[in-house]
Amino acid sequence: MMLHIPTLLMVAVFVFCLMGLLTVHAWSRGREPTLGYLGSMLLLAALGTGLVVVRGAGMDFVALIIGNVVLLLSAAMNWTAMRAFVQRKPNVPGIFAGCGLWMLMCLVPQFYGSLSARVTLYSLLAASYGVLSALELWRKRDTLEVAYAPALVLTLWHTGFYVIRAFADTGLPIKSGQTSGGEGVPFFSFMLFESMLYAIGIAYVTLAMVKERAELRFKAAAFSDALTGIGNRRAFMLKGEQLLEDSDRRQQSVALLLCDLDHFKRLNDSFGHPMGDRALIAFAQVSQAMLRKSDVFARIGGEEFACLLADTDEAIAFDVAERIRQAFAQLDLLAPGFLSVSIGIATTDKAGHTLSHLLSQADQALYRAKAQGRNRVQLVASV
Ligand code: GH3
Ligand code: MG
Ligand code: MG
Repeated sequence: MMLHIPTLLMVAVFVFCLMGLLTVHAWSRGREPTLGYLGSMLLLAALGTGLVVVRGAGMDFVALIIGNVVLLLSAAMNWTAMRAFVQRKPNVPGIFAGCGLWMLMCLVPQFYGSLSARVTLYSLLAASYGVLSALELWRKRDTLEVAYAPALVLTLWHTGFYVIRAFADTGLPIKSGQTSGGEGVPFFSFMLFESMLYAIGIAYVTLAMVKERAELRFKAAAFSDALTGIGNRRAFMLKGEQLLEDSDRRQQSVALLLCDLDHFKRLNDSFGHPMGDRALIAFAQVSQAMLRKSDVFARIGGEEFACLLADTDEAIAFDVAERIRQAFAQLDLLAPGFLSVSIGIATTDKAGHTLSHLLSQADQALYRAKAQGRNRVQLVASV
């Protein structure tokens, strides 16, 4: 099948342009840098390909240099988009290295006059940017948390294509390309196809990665307490129910510590709200240091915290609560006597594996701890 190259070139310009404008629009909504760089990559690809179209119309010299410079900048923007996605700053010398080398080489008449040398160098430079893009994702794969595999596979495919082209394509004189005949036409038309598919694919998967990460961030924010960074009430109820279900199945006991800072209103009134906030943060840190990964810990109210201790009986729970109480009282944040906590304990052995029931029993124990003078740990058994 003979493909009409001028038509393909026109279609490619329009596809790049449309994808670029849509990506820039997506960027303008949330100003996510990745989408900004991706949009510029696509618009530069449209411009660079457009210059190839113009090349036949008597501007060979300028278009041949500028067209490829723009296309190499487009490849560099692809790399920069991936850098931005993994939270790295653009590498400005790296962005201009490819097109700089191209312009330098064009000063050498033997290079400028050799179509196959130009094809080889251009392809190797494009492939280098592809390798750099893939490396960005690969290096940060453990912390990305999003589905990065489609972007990696697409980038590697695109890179592989240019590596093959560097050695296999003898090149297509632009005039024969535009009359759609001659040697090299299949490779050239396949290249246009490949670049269109790549542009559509990479824009789609990058947008998906950006969206996925935004959703993960919103989800994390919805489940965490902004002041202390630990879980909030919503997270506690969700993870707590899960822990209790699992423990019930394994027939393990779980203990709930309900902690309420003492005379917190007085602390705020005496030292100011910011100091109250610091005390809340300090309590969260002190408690977290005493807990295991399998425990569920959260700030469930203003100065109220809850810890669900997995596979823990009453005696161990009492021990943990005592250690938290003492460690908090010993902090040198304020004058002695101002920082203290009362803790009520309930266990599934007595309350069953229902979170609401555990909470109400621990609340009764906490109430007793307050009534008996505060700064103490109270078991539900002695209510
Ligand atoms: P008790 O010993 O009986 O628990 O007395 P309390 O003063 O701790 O209890 P009370 O419920 O009367 O007051 C709780 C105070 O906690 C009132 C509120 O201003 C304060 N508080 C709630 N959330 C925050 C917060 O995010 N930051 C600060 N600094 N204070 C908070
Ligand atoms: Mg309270
Ligand atoms: Mg209190």
